[in-house]
Amino acid sequence: MKERTLVFLKPEAIQRLVCGEIIARFEKKCLKIVGMKMMQITKEIAREHYAHIVSKPFYPDLESFITSSPVLVMVLEGKEAVELVLNMCGPTNATKAPPGTIRGDLSNSVSKNIIHRSDTKEAAEKEIKRFFKKEELFDYKMNNQKYFYADDE
Ligand code: ADP
Repeated sequence: MKERTLVFLKPEAIQRLVCGEIIARFEKKCLKIVGMKMMQITKEIAREHYAHIVSKPFYPDLESFITSSPVLVMVLEGKEAVELVLNMCGPTNATKAPPGTIRGDLSNSVSKNIIHRSDTKEAAEKEIKRFFKKEELFDYKMNNQKYFYADDE
């Protein structure tokens, strides 16, 4: 039941002062923050993280943008966290992302689409390891635990 996913708020989320708004959405949806830090994505990390699109014509712009200032990276835990966060973020092209989604409400761009989120459970596992050491993740109990996991717990 305790599924984890990785998200990072891209440089423009920090520049545009909307990190609090995005984090609030995750908290309100009963996703538990189990790791969070600010970090500078290097060109090396960018090339590893975006290996699947490194040969695309838009990659050089993406790399310079994603390394232009720090990101806020976090691990969220909860019931069906990967799929839930995927749906909350909306599709890649924020111009076409439905209102109510994070990208749909906060961006009007394909490249500067405000947030990264893991797209599968396998990717989440890899990405959590890419960005966090074991000791940077916290296993703690919420007082209202029942809201965070299965309906019958
Ligand atoms: P997602 O982040 O939605 O999983 P991808 O893995 O396909 O999407 O792409 C990674 C990131 O590359 C996107 O979030 C976006 O910032 C950028 N990107 C993707 N497609 C384009 C494009 N056609 N033009 C410019 N930037 C793009």
